[in-house]
Amino acid sequence: MRENLQNIHIQPLKSFSTEHTTVDLLRLDLFHPVISGNKWFKLQFYLQDAVKLGKRSIATFGGAYSNHIVATAFAASELGLQSLGLIRGDEPGVTTPTLQEAANYGMELIFLSRASYRNKAAVQQTWNKEQMYWIKEGGYGEKGALGASEILKIADTSRYTHIACAVGTGTMMAGLINGADNHQQVLGISVLRNHLGLEKEVYTLLNKPESSADFAIYHDYHFGGYAKQTPALFDFMKEIWFSEGIPTDIVYTSKLLYGIRDLVQKNHFGLGSRVLVIHSGGLQGNRSVSAGILPF
Ligand SMILES: *Cc1c(COP(=O)(O)O)cnc(C)c1O
Repeated sequence: MRENLQNIHIQPLKSFSTEHTTVDLLRLDLFHPVISGNKWFKLQFYLQDAVKLGKRSIATFGGAYSNHIVATAFAASELGLQSLGLIRGDEPGVTTPTLQEAANYGMELIFLSRASYRNKAAVQQTWNKEQMYWIKEGGYGEKGALGASEILKIADTSRYTHIACAVGTGTMMAGLINGADNHQQVLGISVLRNHLGLEKEVYTLLNKPESSADFAIYHDYHFGGYAKQTPALFDFMKEIWFSEGIPTDIVYTSKLLYGIRDLVQKNHFGLGSRVLVIHSGGLQGNRSVSAGILPF
C-alpha cells in the first residue's frame, strides 16, 4: 500500500482563497479506490500489531455506511487475515453497498441492535476468539493517531499556518495535532451534533503537553447530525465539483469544506494565513445517495 502514497498531492482551492488567506487541499482521497483517505493511515499500526502477535482475524465495529468497515475488510484481506464486522442497526440482513463490499472482501458481518451495540465490551466478550485482534469503532486509539500523524509527512506541509480536518472519533485529528509543527494550529470540523465529549477524546490521544497542543473544534457544521444531509449541502457539493473538480462525501468532507469556506469568508484567519485542508476520502459512502443527485 505504501507505494500508493505517490497518488496523493496538494491542490490549490482557488475559489476558497482570498487576498487574506490561501487554502490548499491534501488529496488523500486519491490514495486508493477502496481504502481512500485517512483509513489506511489509521489502520496501519493496528494491522502491524495484529500480524506481530500472530492473530488471524481482525474484528471491529461500525455502522452500515462505515468507511472504516470497508477499509478494515479490504486491508485484512490484503494481509491474508479474516475479518469480523459488528454492525450497528436493528435490521439484520438489510444490506448496503458498503456492507456488501465488506462482505465481498470476506468480512463476516454480525448485526446488533442499537441497544446491544452500545455495550461494546459485552459484545466483544461474546464474539471474542483467541486469534482475534480487536480494533475500536472508527479505529479510535493511540495506534490510529500514530498512523494518522504520518499524513503530514507525505508532502512538505511546514509552510502552512493551519491544518484542517473533519472529525468523527477524533483519531485523525489527534494524529495531526501530534504531528503538527509548533507554529501550526489544527482545526477540526465535527460531523456529529452536540458531540461534547470530543475535545476530551482528542486530548486523550495527544502525546504532547496540553500547553503546546494548539487546536480548535467547530461544532456548527454538522447539517443536522451524523450522515444527515440537506439540499444546501448537496448544492454545495455540486458547486465544489463544478468549480474545483473535487468530489466530496456526504458525511465528512463536504461538511469540512463548507465549514472552512465559511470561516475564510468570515475572516477567521489572520492576514497571510495558509490553510491546508485534509481531503480524507470517504467517497464510497455516497453510494447511499439516490442516483442523479450528485454529478460525480
Ligand atoms: C473516518 C473518516 C473521518 C473521521 O476520522 P476520525 O479519525 O474518526 O475522526 C474523516 N473523514 C473521512 C472521509 C472518514 O472516512
